[in-house]
Amino acid sequence: AAKEKGKNQFQFFEWAMNHCQARRMNIEQALPAAIEEQAFHLVYQPMFNAEQGHLIGVETLVRWEHPVLGTISPCEFIPIAESTGHIIVLGEWILHKACKQMKEWHDAGLPRIPVAVNFSVIQFNQDLIVDMIIGALEQTGLDAKYLIAEMTESMAMQHNEAIIGKLHALKRLGVSISIDDFGTGYSSLCYLRRFPIDTLKIDKSFVQDVSGAGEDTAIVEAIIAMARSLKLRVLAEGVETEQQSERLCQLGCTDMQGYWHSRPLSIPQFEQTYLSAAYLARGEAAAGSAAG
Ligand code: C2E
Ligand code: MG
Ligand code: MG
Ligand code: MG
Repeated sequence: AAKEKGKNQFQFFEWAMNHCQARRMNIEQALPAAIEEQAFHLVYQPMFNAEQGHLIGVETLVRWEHPVLGTISPCEFIPIAESTGHIIVLGEWILHKACKQMKEWHDAGLPRIPVAVNFSVIQFNQDLIVDMIIGALEQTGLDAKYLIAEMTESMAMQHNEAIIGKLHALKRLGVSISIDDFGTGYSSLCYLRRFPIDTLKIDKSFVQDVSGAGEDTAIVEAIIAMARSLKLRVLAEGVETEQQSERLCQLGCTDMQGYWHSRPLSIPQFEQTYLSAAYLARGEAAAGSAAG
């Protein structure tokens, strides 16, 4: 009986493994056509200065509606696109779309706020990454000072001389650099100082901790202090409640992003709110203030 049970368990694991692998393979195989057919689209999540209520920038997030698998999260398909190398082409498409969109919105009267685009380390291992970014800016007409390159802490902290050099080149062009998911990696002050960083984005896992009174806020306080001492901006990600927003302001982190202030928005949703005559008349966006 034990043997029989063991066999059943094994078959279950085998089935589960195959199921995961099959899904992964499905996604992997669908990627090239999806890129070809532009089956992806971008959504735009506003970033705010919560103290003043100003829009300070917009982060682009990629979405994929698969005809059979439904909505696939970037948390699932970006790592696959990284492992197959498709992230290079996809990342270029995303950057191009994002810059073009922000240029259009500026031209339509949106105050001159920057657009933040997520980059993968695989992209930064490319020799031509800086040229690719220059090309996207030139082709879309977006000034470099309105582009923020976001990269995760783990990526930046690979501490690769070539990557540091490329970041400095971007910085010289006028592009701003944000470190995403900050606090989840292992950065030291020394490491950080070698990077031409403008902003630390506090990972949402820590932001969720600052909600209730007396909750553990030590990590968030430490990151804010670190940012101050390095003269960096700091932005809290994943702010979901009013309490979190207020607490962060008290702690000295007034730049934030999260469902409390706004979900990621489709183009029509964004335009309805931020390109409306009423909004523009209020002149409420603090132009360029997130560009550092
Ligand atoms: P990220 O860059 O840290 O983006 C923030 C993620 O948190 C987004 O998830 C966003 O929808 C979500 N979020 C925003 N506000 C809240 C909140 O209040 N609460 C919670 N729980 N979540 C919130 P999303 O869009 O699923 O993206 C996940 C990750 O996938 C991103 O994390 C980024 O690492 C990656 N990603 C997304 N778009 C791109 C892209 O265009 N290129 C690359 N290379 N990676 C991307
Ligand atoms: Mg990001
Ligand atoms: Mg993040
Ligand atoms: Mg993340």
